[in-house]
Amino acid sequence: MTTTVAVVGSTGSIGTQTLDVVSSRPDEYRVVALATGSRLDELAAQAERFRPDVVALADESGIAELRDRLAPGIEVLAGPSALADIATVADVTVNGVVGFAGLPVTLACLEAGRRLALANKESLIAAGPVVQKVRCTPGAELLPVDSEHAAIHQCLRASGTDRAVDRLQLTASGGPFRGRSAAELAAVTVDDALAHPTWSMGPKITIDSSTLMNKGLEVIEANELFGTPAGDAGHGIDIDDIEVVVHPQSIVHSMVTYTDGSTIAQLSNPDMRLPIAYALAYPERFPIGYGRIDWSTLGRLDFEPPDRAAFPCLDLAFEAGRTGGTAPAWLSAANEVAVAAFLDGRIPWIRIAEVIAATMDHHDGAAADDLQSVLDGDRQARKYAEDVLGRSPGHR
Ligand code: NAD
Ligand code: MG
Repeated sequence: MTTTVAVVGSTGSIGTQTLDVVSSRPDEYRVVALATGSRLDELAAQAERFRPDVVALADESGIAELRDRLAPGIEVLAGPSALADIATVADVTVNGVVGFAGLPVTLACLEAGRRLALANKESLIAAGPVVQKVRCTPGAELLPVDSEHAAIHQCLRASGTDRAVDRLQLTASGGPFRGRSAAELAAVTVDDALAHPTWSMGPKITIDSSTLMNKGLEVIEANELFGTPAGDAGHGIDIDDIEVVVHPQSIVHSMVTYTDGSTIAQLSNPDMRLPIAYALAYPERFPIGYGRIDWSTLGRLDFEPPDRAAFPCLDLAFEAGRTGGTAPAWLSAANEVAVAAFLDGRIPWIRIAEVIAATMDHHDGAAADDLQSVLDGDRQARKYAEDVLGRSPGHR
Protein backbone atom coordinates (compact mmCIF):
# COMPACT_ATOMS: atom_id res chain seq x y z
CA MET A 1 0.00 0.00 0.00
CA THR A 2 1.30 3.47 -0.89
CA THR A 3 1.70 6.01 1.91
CA THR A 4 0.77 9.54 0.87
CA VAL A 5 3.05 12.34 2.06
CA ALA A 6 2.58 16.11 2.37
CA VAL A 7 5.83 18.09 2.64
CA VAL A 8 5.40 21.53 4.18
CA GLY A 9 8.49 23.71 3.94
CA SER A 10 9.43 21.59 0.92
CA THR A 11 12.17 23.94 -0.35
CA GLY A 12 14.15 23.98 2.91
CA SER A 13 16.84 21.71 4.29
CA ILE A 14 14.35 19.28 5.89
CA GLY A 15 11.95 19.56 2.94
CA THR A 16 14.49 18.72 0.26
CA GLN A 17 15.93 15.84 2.31
CA THR A 18 12.39 14.50 2.78
CA LEU A 19 11.87 14.55 -0.98
CA ASP A 20 15.17 12.70 -1.37
CA VAL A 21 14.02 9.98 1.06
CA VAL A 22 10.58 9.66 -0.50
CA SER A 23 11.88 9.53 -4.06
CA SER A 24 14.13 6.59 -3.16
CA ARG A 25 10.99 4.44 -2.53
CA PRO A 26 8.53 5.50 -5.26
CA ASP A 27 6.35 2.40 -4.86
CA GLU A 28 5.93 2.96 -1.11
CA TYR A 29 5.52 6.75 -0.92
CA ARG A 30 3.70 9.30 -3.07
CA VAL A 31 4.05 13.06 -2.57
CA VAL A 32 0.50 14.43 -2.75
CA ALA A 33 1.12 17.94 -1.43
CA LEU A 34 3.97 20.44 -1.41
CA ALA A 35 4.02 23.77 0.40
CA THR A 36 6.49 26.53 1.01
CA GLY A 37 6.79 30.11 2.22
CA SER A 38 7.77 32.09 -0.84
CA ARG A 39 10.31 30.30 -3.06
CA LEU A 40 8.08 30.05 -6.10
CA ASP A 41 10.68 28.90 -8.65
CA GLU A 42 11.85 26.00 -6.50
CA LEU A 43 8.28 25.01 -5.62
CA ALA A 44 7.29 24.98 -9.31
CA ALA A 45 10.30 22.78 -10.15
CA GLN A 46 9.43 20.36 -7.34
CA ALA A 47 5.80 20.20 -8.50
CA GLU A 48 6.98 19.43 -12.04
CA ARG A 49 9.03 16.53 -10.73
CA PHE A 50 6.71 15.05 -8.08
CA ARG A 51 3.29 15.82 -9.64
CA PRO A 52 1.42 16.37 -6.37
CA ASP A 53 -2.36 16.85 -6.25
CA VAL A 54 -2.03 20.21 -4.53
CA VAL A 55 0.63 22.86 -3.85
CA ALA A 56 0.45 25.75 -1.41
CA LEU A 57 2.30 29.01 -1.07
CA ALA A 58 2.09 31.08 2.11
CA ASP A 59 2.83 34.25 0.14
CA GLU A 60 -0.43 35.11 -1.68
CA SER A 61 1.19 37.45 -4.19
CA GLY A 62 2.66 34.52 -6.13
CA ILE A 63 -0.55 32.58 -6.76
CA ALA A 64 -1.27 33.73 -10.34
CA GLU A 65 2.28 33.08 -11.52
CA LEU A 66 2.39 29.69 -9.82
CA ARG A 67 -0.90 28.66 -11.49
CA ASP A 68 0.51 29.61 -14.88
CA ARG A 69 3.62 27.53 -14.36
CA LEU A 70 2.01 24.30 -13.17
CA ALA A 71 0.58 21.45 -15.17
CA PRO A 72 -3.23 21.45 -15.36
CA GLY A 73 -4.86 19.39 -12.65
CA ILE A 74 -2.59 20.53 -9.81
CA GLU A 75 -4.63 22.53 -7.34
CA VAL A 76 -2.97 25.75 -6.09
CA LEU A 77 -3.67 27.25 -2.68
CA ALA A 78 -2.19 30.45 -1.29
CA GLY A 79 -2.49 32.66 1.73
CA PRO A 80 -2.41 32.35 5.51
CA SER A 81 -4.47 29.16 5.86
CA ALA A 82 -3.11 27.37 2.78
CA LEU A 83 -0.32 25.51 4.60
CA ALA A 84 -2.67 24.22 7.27
CA ASP A 85 -5.15 23.13 4.60
CA ILE A 86 -2.64 20.83 2.95
CA ALA A 87 -1.52 19.39 6.31
CA THR A 88 -4.74 17.37 6.42
CA VAL A 89 -4.68 15.60 3.05
CA ALA A 90 -1.95 12.96 3.41
CA ASP A 91 -1.25 9.93 5.59
CA VAL A 92 1.89 11.72 6.85
CA THR A 93 2.68 15.43 6.93
CA VAL A 94 6.30 16.44 7.31
CA ASN A 95 6.39 19.85 8.99
CA GLY A 96 9.68 21.40 7.83
CA VAL A 97 8.59 25.02 8.18
CA VAL A 98 10.98 27.17 10.21
CA GLY A 99 9.75 29.08 13.28
CA PHE A 100 6.37 29.89 14.79
CA ALA A 101 4.88 30.00 11.28
CA GLY A 102 4.76 26.19 11.48
CA LEU A 103 2.16 26.11 14.27
CA PRO A 104 -0.99 25.96 12.07
CA VAL A 105 0.54 22.98 10.24
CA THR A 106 1.22 21.06 13.46
CA LEU A 107 -2.28 21.71 14.81
CA ALA A 108 -4.15 21.03 11.55
CA CYS A 109 -2.38 17.72 10.97
CA LEU A 110 -2.99 16.39 14.48
CA GLU A 111 -6.59 17.68 14.56
CA ALA A 112 -7.20 15.75 11.33
CA GLY A 113 -6.02 12.56 13.08
CA ARG A 114 -3.00 12.14 10.80
CA ARG A 115 0.66 11.34 11.40
CA LEU A 116 2.84 14.39 11.95
CA ALA A 117 6.58 14.00 11.26
CA LEU A 118 7.68 17.04 13.21
CA ALA A 119 10.88 18.93 12.41
CA ASN A 120 9.32 22.31 13.26
CA LYS A 121 10.19 22.20 16.96
CA GLU A 122 9.14 25.83 17.50
CA SER A 123 5.42 24.94 17.20
CA LEU A 124 5.62 22.30 19.93
CA ILE A 125 7.75 24.53 22.17
CA ALA A 126 5.60 27.65 21.85
CA ALA A 127 2.25 25.89 22.08
CA GLY A 128 3.05 22.78 24.17
CA PRO A 129 -0.23 22.52 26.12
CA VAL A 130 -2.32 23.27 23.01
CA VAL A 131 -0.47 20.66 20.94
CA GLN A 132 -0.81 18.09 23.77
CA LYS A 133 -4.60 18.42 23.59
CA VAL A 134 -4.79 17.78 19.84
CA ARG A 135 -2.34 14.86 20.12
CA CYS A 136 -5.24 13.00 21.75
CA THR A 137 -7.32 13.15 18.53
CA PRO A 138 -8.06 9.56 17.41
CA GLY A 139 -5.52 8.57 14.75
CA ALA A 140 -3.17 11.47 15.50
CA GLU A 141 0.48 10.52 15.89
CA LEU A 142 3.51 12.73 16.51
CA LEU A 143 6.85 11.32 15.35
CA PRO A 144 9.84 13.57 16.06
CA VAL A 145 12.21 14.33 13.18
CA ASP A 146 14.67 16.29 15.31
CA SER A 147 17.59 13.85 15.52
CA GLU A 148 17.92 13.92 19.31
CA HIS A 149 14.23 13.22 19.83
CA ALA A 150 14.17 10.55 17.15
CA ALA A 151 17.09 9.01 19.07
CA ILE A 152 15.21 9.05 22.38
CA HIS A 153 12.13 7.64 20.66
CA GLN A 154 14.30 4.74 19.47
CA CYS A 155 15.96 4.23 22.88
CA LEU A 156 12.57 4.09 24.62
CA ARG A 157 11.29 1.74 21.97
CA ALA A 158 14.33 -0.51 22.46
CA SER A 159 13.50 -0.94 26.12
CA GLY A 160 9.96 -2.11 25.31
CA THR A 161 7.54 -1.82 28.20
CA ASP A 162 10.32 -0.83 30.64
CA ARG A 163 9.45 2.70 31.65
CA ALA A 164 11.77 3.04 34.68
CA VAL A 165 13.45 6.07 33.11
CA ASP A 166 15.69 8.14 35.36
CA ARG A 167 17.16 10.77 33.03
CA LEU A 168 17.40 11.78 29.39
CA GLN A 169 20.68 12.99 27.91
CA LEU A 170 20.51 15.23 24.85
CA THR A 171 23.76 15.48 22.94
CA ALA A 172 24.91 18.75 21.34
CA SER A 173 27.66 19.16 18.79
CA GLY A 174 28.62 22.40 20.53
CA GLY A 175 28.31 24.28 17.22
CA PRO A 176 31.04 26.33 15.55
CA PHE A 177 32.06 28.18 18.74
CA ARG A 178 32.69 25.23 21.05
CA GLY A 179 35.63 25.95 23.32
CA ARG A 180 35.54 29.73 22.87
CA SER A 181 35.33 32.01 25.89
CA ALA A 182 32.73 34.77 26.28
CA ALA A 183 35.44 37.34 25.40
CA GLU A 184 36.39 35.50 22.21
CA LEU A 185 32.74 35.44 21.14
CA ALA A 186 32.42 39.24 21.06
CA ALA A 187 33.70 39.61 17.50
CA VAL A 188 32.27 36.56 15.68
CA THR A 189 30.62 37.22 12.30
CA VAL A 190 27.50 35.87 10.59
CA ASP A 191 29.68 33.70 8.34
CA ASP A 192 31.51 32.28 11.38
CA ALA A 193 28.18 31.43 13.02
CA LEU A 194 26.80 29.82 9.84
CA ALA A 195 29.79 27.45 9.54
CA HIS A 196 28.38 24.46 11.47
CA PRO A 197 30.96 21.69 11.95
CA THR A 198 28.76 18.60 11.53
CA TRP A 199 25.28 19.49 10.13
CA SER A 200 24.17 21.40 7.03
CA MET A 201 20.87 23.11 7.94
CA GLY A 202 18.80 26.24 7.31
CA PRO A 203 20.18 29.57 8.62
CA LYS A 204 17.89 30.00 11.66
CA ILE A 205 18.64 26.62 13.26
CA THR A 206 22.34 27.01 12.39
CA ILE A 207 22.49 30.26 14.38
CA ASP A 208 20.48 28.58 17.16
CA SER A 209 23.14 25.86 17.24
CA SER A 210 25.91 28.45 17.57
CA THR A 211 24.25 30.00 20.66
CA LEU A 212 23.12 26.63 22.13
CA MET A 213 19.55 27.98 21.99
CA ASN A 214 18.83 25.07 19.68
CA LYS A 215 19.74 22.68 22.50
CA GLY A 216 17.75 24.75 24.98
CA LEU A 217 14.70 24.58 22.70
CA GLU A 218 15.28 20.84 22.35
CA VAL A 219 15.23 20.41 26.13
CA ILE A 220 11.74 21.95 26.17
CA GLU A 221 10.80 19.83 23.15
CA ALA A 222 12.03 16.65 24.90
CA ASN A 223 10.04 17.52 27.99
CA GLU A 224 6.90 17.97 25.88
CA LEU A 225 7.48 14.70 24.04
CA PHE A 226 8.83 12.43 26.76
CA GLY A 227 8.09 14.14 30.10
CA THR A 228 5.99 11.97 32.43
CA PRO A 229 4.32 12.54 35.79
CA ALA A 230 5.63 10.60 38.77
CA GLY A 231 3.81 7.30 39.17
CA ASP A 232 4.16 3.57 39.66
CA ALA A 233 6.81 3.28 36.95
CA GLY A 234 9.22 5.74 38.57
CA HIS A 235 9.73 9.30 39.73
CA GLY A 236 8.61 10.75 36.39
CA ILE A 237 10.59 12.92 34.00
CA ASP A 238 10.52 16.69 34.11
CA ILE A 239 12.78 19.35 32.66
CA ASP A 240 15.42 18.96 35.38
CA ASP A 241 15.79 15.28 34.52
CA ILE A 242 17.03 16.29 31.06
CA GLU A 243 20.79 16.81 30.73
CA VAL A 244 22.77 18.36 27.91
CA VAL A 245 26.13 16.85 27.02
CA VAL A 246 28.42 18.23 24.33
CA HIS A 247 29.55 15.54 21.90
CA PRO A 248 31.44 17.14 19.00
CA GLN A 249 31.35 14.15 16.60
CA SER A 250 27.49 14.07 16.44
CA ILE A 251 27.44 10.25 16.37
CA VAL A 252 25.55 9.60 19.61
CA HIS A 253 22.28 11.44 19.00
CA SER A 254 20.87 11.12 22.53
CA MET A 255 20.49 8.69 25.40
CA VAL A 256 18.09 7.38 28.01
CA THR A 257 19.33 6.37 31.45
CA TYR A 258 17.24 3.95 33.52
CA THR A 259 16.83 3.84 37.30
CA ASP A 260 19.40 1.05 37.66
CA GLY A 261 22.09 3.20 35.99
CA SER A 262 21.89 1.54 32.58
CA THR A 263 22.08 3.89 29.58
CA ILE A 264 20.73 3.16 26.08
CA ALA A 265 22.00 5.41 23.28
CA GLN A 266 21.24 5.74 19.56
CA LEU A 267 24.23 6.08 17.22
CA SER A 268 24.51 6.91 13.51
CA ASN A 269 26.43 9.35 11.35
CA PRO A 270 24.89 12.85 11.18
CA ASP A 271 22.38 12.47 8.32
CA MET A 272 18.89 13.93 8.78
CA ARG A 273 17.49 11.54 6.20
CA LEU A 274 17.65 8.82 8.87
CA PRO A 275 15.24 10.46 11.36
CA ILE A 276 13.04 11.62 8.46
CA ALA A 277 12.87 8.06 7.11
CA TYR A 278 12.26 6.75 10.65
CA ALA A 279 9.26 9.05 11.10
CA LEU A 280 7.84 8.03 7.72
CA ALA A 281 8.32 4.28 8.11
CA TYR A 282 7.57 3.77 11.84
CA PRO A 283 6.87 1.16 13.18
CA GLU A 284 8.76 -0.41 10.26
CA ARG A 285 12.44 0.37 9.60
CA PHE A 286 13.43 2.07 6.36
CA PRO A 287 15.34 -0.38 4.13
CA ILE A 288 18.00 2.16 3.11
CA GLY A 289 20.93 2.72 5.50
CA TYR A 290 21.35 6.47 5.90
CA GLY A 291 24.06 7.38 8.38
CA ARG A 292 25.38 3.83 8.73
CA ILE A 293 28.58 3.88 10.81
CA ASP A 294 31.88 2.47 9.55
CA TRP A 295 33.24 1.19 12.88
CA SER A 296 36.69 0.60 11.41
CA THR A 297 37.18 4.35 10.87
CA LEU A 298 34.99 5.83 13.60
CA GLY A 299 37.86 6.39 16.03
CA ARG A 300 36.85 8.23 19.17
CA LEU A 301 33.72 9.68 20.75
CA ASP A 302 34.20 12.66 23.09
CA PHE A 303 31.84 14.11 25.70
CA GLU A 304 32.09 17.28 27.79
CA PRO A 305 29.76 19.58 29.73
CA PRO A 306 28.38 22.69 27.97
CA ASP A 307 29.92 26.06 28.86
CA ARG A 308 26.85 27.70 30.40
CA ALA A 309 28.60 31.06 30.97
CA ALA A 310 29.71 31.54 27.37
CA PHE A 311 26.37 30.23 26.03
CA PRO A 312 23.68 31.73 28.32
CA CYS A 313 20.84 30.82 25.93
CA LEU A 314 20.90 27.27 27.29
CA ASP A 315 19.90 28.37 30.80
CA LEU A 316 17.41 30.92 29.47
CA ALA A 317 15.63 27.98 27.86
CA PHE A 318 15.74 25.82 31.00
CA GLU A 319 14.26 28.74 32.93
CA ALA A 320 11.44 29.25 30.41
CA GLY A 321 10.74 25.51 30.41
CA ARG A 322 10.49 25.46 34.21
CA THR A 323 8.20 28.52 34.22
CA GLY A 324 5.90 26.95 31.63
CA GLY A 325 2.70 28.63 30.44
CA THR A 326 3.55 31.10 27.68
CA ALA A 327 7.22 31.45 28.76
CA PRO A 328 8.47 29.00 26.08
CA ALA A 329 6.40 30.89 23.46
CA TRP A 330 8.04 34.14 24.58
CA LEU A 331 11.49 32.58 24.53
CA SER A 332 11.04 31.18 21.04
CA ALA A 333 9.55 34.44 19.69
CA ALA A 334 12.30 36.61 21.24
CA ASN A 335 14.87 34.23 19.82
CA GLU A 336 13.37 34.46 16.31
CA VAL A 337 13.50 38.27 16.47
CA ALA A 338 17.08 38.32 17.82
CA VAL A 339 18.36 35.75 15.31
CA ALA A 340 16.77 37.63 12.39
CA ALA A 341 18.41 40.85 13.65
CA PHE A 342 21.80 39.11 13.86
CA LEU A 343 21.46 37.67 10.36
CA ASP A 344 20.52 41.16 9.10
CA GLY A 345 23.66 42.63 10.66
CA ARG A 346 21.65 44.71 13.15
CA ILE A 347 23.22 43.23 16.30
CA PRO A 348 26.41 41.33 17.16
CA TRP A 349 26.20 37.64 18.08
CA ILE A 350 26.59 38.25 21.85
CA ARG A 351 23.49 40.51 21.83
CA ILE A 352 21.24 37.59 20.85
CA ALA A 353 21.15 36.22 24.42
CA GLU A 354 20.84 39.74 25.88
CA VAL A 355 17.81 40.57 23.73
CA ILE A 356 16.12 37.31 24.77
CA ALA A 357 16.93 37.81 28.48
CA ALA A 358 15.64 41.40 28.41
CA THR A 359 12.44 40.27 26.66
CA MET A 360 11.87 37.48 29.19
CA ASP A 361 12.06 40.07 32.01
CA HIS A 362 8.68 41.32 30.73
CA HIS A 363 6.98 37.91 30.67
CA ASP A 364 3.62 38.31 32.38
CA GLY A 365 3.26 34.74 33.68
CA ALA A 366 0.25 34.01 31.44
CA ALA A 367 -0.92 30.42 31.00
CA ALA A 368 -0.95 28.76 27.57
CA ASP A 369 -4.36 27.11 27.89
CA ASP A 370 -5.59 27.89 24.42
CA LEU A 371 -4.36 28.96 21.02
CA GLN A 372 -5.30 32.59 21.59
CA SER A 373 -3.05 32.91 24.66
CA VAL A 374 -0.14 31.45 22.67
CA LEU A 375 -0.75 33.83 19.75
CA ASP A 376 -0.98 36.76 22.18
CA GLY A 377 2.22 35.70 23.95
CA ASP A 378 4.08 35.37 20.66
CA ARG A 379 2.91 38.83 19.52
CA GLN A 380 3.78 40.51 22.84
CA ALA A 381 7.22 38.92 23.03
CA ARG A 382 8.05 40.00 19.46
CA LYS A 383 7.04 43.55 20.32
CA TYR A 384 9.22 43.63 23.46
CA ALA A 385 12.13 42.06 21.60
CA GLU A 386 11.87 44.70 18.84
CA ASP A 387 11.77 47.41 21.55
CA VAL A 388 14.90 45.97 23.14
CA LEU A 389 16.62 45.92 19.75
CA GLY A 390 15.92 49.63 19.40
CA ARG A 391 17.64 50.39 22.72
CA SER A 392 21.33 50.70 23.48
CA PRO A 393 23.19 47.53 24.58
CA GLY A 394 23.08 46.72 28.29
CA HIS A 395 19.84 48.67 28.88
CA ARG A 396 16.86 46.54 29.91
P1 NAD B 1 15.07 26.12 6.05
O1 NAD B 1 15.26 27.57 6.29
O2 NAD B 1 16.09 25.39 5.23
O3 NAD B 1 13.63 25.87 5.37
C1 NAD B 1 12.46 26.41 5.88
C2 NAD B 1 11.25 26.12 5.01
O4 NAD B 1 10.14 26.77 5.61
C3 NAD B 1 11.35 26.65 3.57
O5 NAD B 1 10.72 25.74 2.70
C4 NAD B 1 10.55 27.95 3.64
O6 NAD B 1 9.94 28.28 2.40
C5 NAD B 1 9.50 27.63 4.66
N1 NAD B 1 9.02 28.83 5.35
C6 NAD B 1 9.77 29.81 5.90
N2 NAD B 1 8.98 30.76 6.43
C7 NAD B 1 7.71 30.38 6.22
C8 NAD B 1 6.46 30.93 6.53
N3 NAD B 1 6.34 32.11 7.14
N4 NAD B 1 5.36 30.25 6.19
C9 NAD B 1 5.48 29.07 5.56
N5 NAD B 1 6.64 28.50 5.23
C10 NAD B 1 7.74 29.14 5.56
O7 NAD B 1 14.91 25.43 7.49
P2 NAD B 1 15.29 23.94 7.94
O8 NAD B 1 16.72 23.87 8.35
O9 NAD B 1 14.78 22.95 6.94
O10 NAD B 1 14.46 23.81 9.30
C11 NAD B 1 13.05 23.60 9.30
C12 NAD B 1 12.62 23.19 10.70
O11 NAD B 1 13.22 21.95 11.01
C13 NAD B 1 13.06 24.17 11.80
O12 NAD B 1 12.08 24.21 12.79
C14 NAD B 1 14.32 23.51 12.37
O13 NAD B 1 14.56 23.84 13.70
C15 NAD B 1 13.96 22.04 12.22
N6 NAD B 1 15.12 21.15 12.13
C16 NAD B 1 15.94 21.23 11.07
C17 NAD B 1 17.05 20.38 10.97
C18 NAD B 1 17.94 20.41 9.76
O14 NAD B 1 18.84 19.58 9.65
N7 NAD B 1 17.78 21.34 8.83
C19 NAD B 1 17.31 19.46 12.00
C20 NAD B 1 16.44 19.41 13.08
C21 NAD B 1 15.33 20.24 13.14
MG1 MG C 1 18.32 18.56 16.85
